[in-house]
Parts: sequence; C-alpha cells; structure tokens
Amino acid sequence: MPTDHPDQYQDIREAVRALCAQFPDEYFRKVDEERGYPEAFVDALTKAGWLAALIPADYGGSGLGLAEASVIMEEINRCGGNSGACHGQMYNMGTLLRHGSEEQKRKYLPRIASGELRLQSMAVTEPTAGTDTTRIKTVAVKKGDCYVVNGQKVWISRVQHSDLMILLARTTPLAEVKRKSEGMSIFIVDIKEATAKGMTVRPIPNMVNHETNELFFDNLEIPAGNLIGEEGRGFKYILDGLNAERTLIAAECIGDGYWFVDRAAKYAAERVVFDRPIGQNQGVAFPIAEAYMEVEAANLMRFRACELFDAQQPCGAEANMAKHLAAKASWEAANVCLQTHGGFGFACEYDVERKFRETRLYLVAPISSNLVFSYIAEHVLGMPRSF
Ligand SMILES: Cc1cc2nc3c(=O)[nH]c(=O)nc-3n(C[C@H](O)[C@H](O)[C@H](O)COP(=O)(O)OP(=O)(O)OC[C@H]3O[C@@H](n4cnc5c(N)ncnc54)[C@H](O)[C@@H]3O)c2cc1C
Repeated sequence: MPTDHPDQYQDIREAVRALCAQFPDEYFRKVDEERGYPEAFVDALTKAGWLAALIPADYGGSGLGLAEASVIMEEINRCGGNSGACHGQMYNMGTLLRHGSEEQKRKYLPRIASGELRLQSMAVTEPTAGTDTTRIKTVAVKKGDCYVVNGQKVWISRVQHSDLMILLARTTPLAEVKRKSEGMSIFIVDIKEATAKGMTVRPIPNMVNHETNELFFDNLEIPAGNLIGEEGRGFKYILDGLNAERTLIAAECIGDGYWFVDRAAKYAAERVVFDRPIGQNQGVAFPIAEAYMEVEAANLMRFRACELFDAQQPCGAEANMAKHLAAKASWEAANVCLQTHGGFGFACEYDVERKFRETRLYLVAPISSNLVFSYIAEHVLGMPRSF
C-alpha cells in the first residue's frame, strides 16, 4: 500500500490485516450482492478478541485504549471490508461499562467479550424526532417490577444480528421535566425475548448493505433490573458515549480514505490510454494527491481525539471535528477514486462503487455534518445556540 507508514500500532495493524486477508474483496462483494451479513467475518473478529478491545481485562476483554480500538476499525475498512457490520459493539458496550451496575457488568460484559452475546444495537432515533432526540415519543412506564414500553424507533442497526440492544425511552413526560434533556432512561433489552413479547422488527431496504430496521413497541415489558444507571439520566449517558463513537467512525473513514487513494493511485499508474498511464495526466494525478492530503490531515485530528479520550480529557470538539473531517475526506477520496476508474468504477468487480456507497453514509450517520457544525459553532466558538 503506497499510503502505508508504520506507526506504534503496527502489531495490531498486521494482526488485523492477517485476519482480513482471509476475507478478501470477493467475500465482501458477495455479502453486499446478497444483502447479507458478514457472519463469518464478525465471528472471526470476535474469536480473535478484536471486538472486545475496549472491555477491561477484569471483564474478559483486552482493556485497550480508544486509539488501539480505532486502529482495528481503520484496518478493517482499509482492507476493503466494512466495520459498519460490527462497530456498534465497540461503542455500545461503553454505555454499559460506564453506567451499568456491577451486577449488570458481570452478567453481560464477560459474555460479550467471549462472543457468546452480541451487543451491536442502540435504539435512539425516532421517525418524528429525528436529530432532536429530546422529542422522542417512545415511553417506558414503570409498573411493579417492570417497565412497559410503547413507541417506535427508526434506523436501528444490526438488530437481527445482535442479542442485546440499548434502548432510550422517555420515563417522565417532556412537559414535566425542568430541562428537555431530563426524564429519559436507557435500558438493556434482550432482543429475542423482546421480539416474542411486543417488539416488531421491520427491515429498511437501503442504499448500503447495512442491516437497519424500524422497531415498534407494543406494551413490551422490560424487567426493572434492566434499567442502566439512574432513571431520568439516560440522555446524558448516551451523550457520554458519543465521543468514542465519533472517533471510531472517523477511523473507519480514514481506513476507507486510504483504500480509495491506494486504489486510485494504482489504477492511475496501470491504466494506459493515449499510449500512456492515465496518472501521467495531471488532471488525473492531482485530485488523487489532494484526496490523500485531506485524509492525512483528518487522520491527525482522529489521533488527537484518541489521545485526549485515552487521557480522560475533554474531547468533544476533537471527536466531532475528527468525525466530520474524516467523513468528508473519505467521501472526496471516494469520488476521486470512482472518477479515476472511469466506467470501470461502476463495475461491481472493482469494489469502488460498493465502498463509495458505504462511505457516503458517514456524512449523515451517526450524526449529520450540520449537527457537527452546530456543536463547534456553539460550544467551541461561543456563537448563539440555534436550537
Ligand atoms: C444506515 C443508517 C443506520 C443508522 N443506524 C442507527 C442506529 O443504529 N441507531 C440509531 O439510533 N440511529 C441510527 N441511524 C439514524 C441516524 O443517526 C440519523 O439518520 C441521523 O442522526 C440524522 O437524523 P435524521 O435522519 O432523523 O435526520 P433529520 O434530523 O430529519 O435531519 C435531516 C437533515 O436536516 C439537517 N438538520 C436538521 N435539523 C437541523 C438544524 N437545526 N440545523 C441545521 N441542519 C439541520 C440534518 O443535518 C440532516 O441533514 C442510522 C441512520 C442510517 C441512515
């Protein structure tokens, strides 16, 4: 890979690359074609312990930092795969780790680390609330020793390939709280049990091969013991996990970005038209060079966010900036890679169109660019709050 420069994470990089080598382009292409789930790949990743990177050793994980975890995600995408099938576990378990009781952590984390259970899903988004999460309408009402859940979620990923899901629901009506961010709670939901007792899962066909769903809750009863942390503080708990999520997504985009640049540079050097490699034309070479610079720059911000996070320093600004810069850089690299390949960029066998679709998602989810701009404008630059 022309863009490869060894760093202190080389051991992790090489080990993940060796695993990914068993799942070449053809594997991911076929999964994409079939709109399937890369079951064998996720199993191999779990067995090798990579998805338990952020789980502390006391609970059976490897207790690595966010920087190392982000390198794992980066390498998967850089090797041509798609971490979107499994990245949820990396950051969702953080919510349980930070806010769950010791009993909940002992119950779930070792089994997640061993691969016996998957915690791949987090249900926050709703059709009528959109990005304005405090307006969610899904409610959980305490009745005896359980909570009864009613409502609807949308775009909830990996539910069909997960055992557990973290659910955000309102436990105190919006009209009765002092601040709109109060009165929401999070629960750990056993997906199999829930689908038998009032949760309906409806898949959403979409542009990417990303298993994502609408969820409907009709008097779903969740044991009160599945409440994570204190009732009413769920929104804050979700926010606590966002910096890790943003930074890991940034790393995936960095992996994609390097993949696009490598493929574009290689193709530009090999493809001969008018008796010379197309890369000899500056109109072809310069956009690839520019895309590479953008990915490199975003990568610095990604490692800055990791450094602060791992030092337990505030990193909201850096995590948001890393996510946006990396998503933008990978999308630009995708565009350049497709253009460099000409018509062949559209042929599935080159994998460019697949990766192009996959990386586009990250300018929208898990947070859209405008919301990142809004965060920086308000919280970093002190401009007036807009919503
Ligand atoms: C494939 C996929 C997987 C997903 N997986 C999950 C998941 O597992 N769990 C989950 O909870 N959610 C998930 N999501 C949801 C995702 O987080 C949201 O789609 C995303 O946050 C944007 O919310 P929205 O779609 O409701 O857009 P909206 O909130 O309707 O916004 C639409 C557009 O308007 C812009 N906008 C809205 N308000 C403002 C404003 N005040 N100022 C400026 N611009 C504004 C937004 O930036 C956006 O571009 C997923 C989405 C997709 C597409």
